[in-house]
Amino acid sequence: MTSSGTYLFSIDLEDVRDFMKDGQQYAERVPAMTRRYLAFLRQRDSRCTFFVVGDVARKYPDLIRSIINDGHEIACHSNKHITLENLDEHTFHADLEENIQHLQNAGAKNIKGFRAPVLSLTNKTQWAYKVLSKLGFIYSSSVLPAHNPLYGWPEFGQRPKTIDGVLELPMTLSSSFYPLPFAGGTYFRALPLWYTLNAFKRQHRKGDAILGYFHPYDIDTEQERFMHPGIHNNRFFNALMYYNRHTVFSKLESILKRGWKIIPYSDFIQQHYH
Ligand SMILES: [Zn+2]
Repeated sequence: MTSSGTYLFSIDLEDVRDFMKDGQQYAERVPAMTRRYLAFLRQRDSRCTFFVVGDVARKYPDLIRSIINDGHEIACHSNKHITLENLDEHTFHADLEENIQHLQNAGAKNIKGFRAPVLSLTNKTQWAYKVLSKLGFIYSSSVLPAHNPLYGWPEFGQRPKTIDGVLELPMTLSSSFYPLPFAGGTYFRALPLWYTLNAFKRQHRKGDAILGYFHPYDIDTEQERFMHPGIHNNRFFNALMYYNRHTVFSKLESILKRGWKIIPYSDFIQQHYH
């Protein structure tokens, strides 16, 4: 085992059923999947950041308390998971205040971080930093610095940057010909392990941390089949939503075995930016 770097593995805690018309007809999966993540992290003595949607905290305060009791960081992922392009400074401010309130009601303290729904912080929505700063946020991890069918801000670049007093930690991209956010979600599931391990190695040589995001559904091998929201009814994208979910924990295991360490975002910022 070689000593490796920091993997800012994180979980966006949201319930896809809340974003669908008649979504409640499908089985409840968020608490069970969260517990699966918690058990995995506990066994590996790892703590990470959970970016939590306000509605989820309101519905499952006990679940949030379990996350806190295990020593993980709680951060915001908006109250209703509305993308930033559908908000403005005023409505975003109100949405975040509600998000913070629900997290605090469930026991979260010292909330410092934010992740935009679907990484919708782009060139067009960078007014969001002003709002985050006003509400006392220290960091955001909301930018996909690449071209993407849904969102993306390729001009942002791949290095962290402070905007309006808020440190943005963009998603990590592979340094291949076609840069991919290899360390999270669909890409992490779909890419073969050798590709992922190589990408981790290359990033380590650059001395950079690796950022990636996961959701309750990313590990849900028993979830019913339905068209996921936010992918424009595209059947190929939907097939990808279900693809290789059973591989996530074994891939994570391989990464941790190579010495990568999962830590909360706020710890990382404390270590490197203070
Ligand atoms: Zn989300």
